[in-house]
Amino acid sequence: MTKKINTETKTVQADHYCDPQTGSIVPAIYTSTTYARDKNYQLISEDYSYGRDENPTFTVPERVLADLEGGEEALLFSSGMSAAISVFQALEPGDHVVAPEIMYWGLREWLKEFTEKWGLNVTFYDVNEQNSLMNSIVRDETKLVWIETPCNPTWGVIDIGEAAEISHKNNAYLVVDSTVSTPVITRPIDFGADIVMHSATKYLNGHGDVVAGALVCRKKDSFWQKIRHNRTHGGAIPSPFDAWLLLRGMRTLFIRMEKINRSAMKIAKHFENNDHISEVLYPGLTAHEGHEIAKKQMKTGFGGMLSLRIKEGEETALEIVKNCTVFMRATSLGGVESLIEHRYSIEGENSPIPRDLIRISVGIEYTEDLINDLEKSIKKSIKS
Ligand code: PLP
Repeated sequence: MTKKINTETKTVQADHYCDPQTGSIVPAIYTSTTYARDKNYQLISEDYSYGRDENPTFTVPERVLADLEGGEEALLFSSGMSAAISVFQALEPGDHVVAPEIMYWGLREWLKEFTEKWGLNVTFYDVNEQNSLMNSIVRDETKLVWIETPCNPTWGVIDIGEAAEISHKNNAYLVVDSTVSTPVITRPIDFGADIVMHSATKYLNGHGDVVAGALVCRKKDSFWQKIRHNRTHGGAIPSPFDAWLLLRGMRTLFIRMEKINRSAMKIAKHFENNDHISEVLYPGLTAHEGHEIAKKQMKTGFGGMLSLRIKEGEETALEIVKNCTVFMRATSLGGVESLIEHRYSIEGENSPIPRDLIRISVGIEYTEDLINDLEKSIKKSIKS
């Protein structure tokens, strides 16, 4: 009996890609916006008709991603936000949605602004309160439960299996923003999720040069077909070059995550007892509130995102960010280079984020350089 090929190998080899006509082991970029028909007016390939519906450049990355997540099908989008929005736009006016209070702020803001106009009712639940998600469900009205785990930027961990049980008992879909975990660490579908969402701008691409999004479904049911329809009609597709770059990025996802998991854990442990840090927020630390759930559903490590709360407060937190020379001062996450940011400054006045919080995205640099940079910056900022 032949052994099943591991997903890691399939991802590296882009599903053992080999072009049957040329032998090329790298898929081509198709820039055509339309696809020809033969003399009988039949499409030459029935899969492709017009560039807003489909593009052969999407086929391999979508197949690789579906396999990575253990889902039936994946769809690429022009951004993480457009992927998420396509899900909400597949709901009907009057439907009730449950979403976390602490989540990617852009989506939280969108939900607050647009869902009312769209006719959706949203309840935000408290991720730190045990029964909050369950108590937010409205019987026969809740159609969708949204979770993000670990959630931005306190890295609280939500039990996907429990959320799936609650959702399904109420005939609601469970959608998981798994951008921060990546399928290397957690495969939400294995725990009962119906749809997995990614800002592919982050770890999936991993090189800070593509804005893209993705959804993966457990089953190609009627809700999924509505989402596909939304992508086709709304045109929320990536450019062919971005889809190609994304596949190239995904090939090294496993090796990047291995280093990132190790490095972030080392940094989190190093600063855990620092005199100027009141809290290191990282699900890999035993002191973290979500550690026990994280151990259950984060299989290969605890990811590359961590936050530091500075005892001396907001001004010093900002100084520390300003005084770093190795970390890049920039928003976003999931790239090969480590980023540092004062999160409250990015999110603005409506943000529930503590003002003394510094958010870090650990990349794949030499770990000691990152530790030394933070150490030096903390010392300099406290003195000044
Ligand atoms: N979800 C998470 C967890 C994110 O961090 C982001 C972006 O920062 C998004 C969704 C939105 O993705 P994009 O910026 O690709 O639209």
